[in-house]
Amino acid sequence: MISYDIGHSGQHLSFDDTVLAHFDRHRQTRIWHREAGGLLFSRLALPAIDICAITGPRRTDRRGRYSYWPDERAEQREIDEMFRRGLHFVGCWHTHPEDIPSPSIVDRRNISDCVRRSQHALNGFVMVIVGRASTPDGLFVSVCDASNVHVLQLSAGA
Ligand SMILES: [Zn+2]
Repeated sequence: MISYDIGHSGQHLSFDDTVLAHFDRHRQTRIWHREAGGLLFSRLALPAIDICAITGPRRTDRRGRYSYWPDERAEQREIDEMFRRGLHFVGCWHTHPEDIPSPSIVDRRNISDCVRRSQHALNGFVMVIVGRASTPDGLFVSVCDASNVHVLQLSAGA
C-alpha cells in the first residue's frame, strides 16, 4: 500500500496492493500497448480514503496509443454495482505511454466534466495517470476540483 497527503486537510489517500498490481498490469511498456483506464472506488472512512477497488479497461472502451475513451454506460453500471457493496466512486485512472506522466489538455477538460457530474462526500475527484516508470515515480496522483488539478505528494515514510 502507498499513501499520499491531501494538502493540509489531514486526509490521506492510499492505494491497496491489489489496485497497485492492477496499474502495473496495464503500464504501456511496449510500443503496441494501448492506453487503458477505468474507475477507482473507496469505502470513504474519512479521513482515510483508501482506494480498494478498481475497474477497467473494458472490451467496449475505445483505446489508442495516445487516447482512451471509456464506455460511459459500462462505467455507470460499475458505479451502481459498487455502491450496492458500500463502495463509493471517487475517481478515475488511465495510462500514458510516457515514463513520468502528466495530464494532457484533454485530461484536464475531462476531469472538470467529471467533477461537475459526480456527487459524493469528497470535495475533489481523484485522477491517477499510470506512466511507464515503476511505482511511485511513474504514478501521477492528483485531486481535482472543477478548475484545478492538485498534485499529491507521497506521505512521509510511505
Ligand atoms: Zn491522458
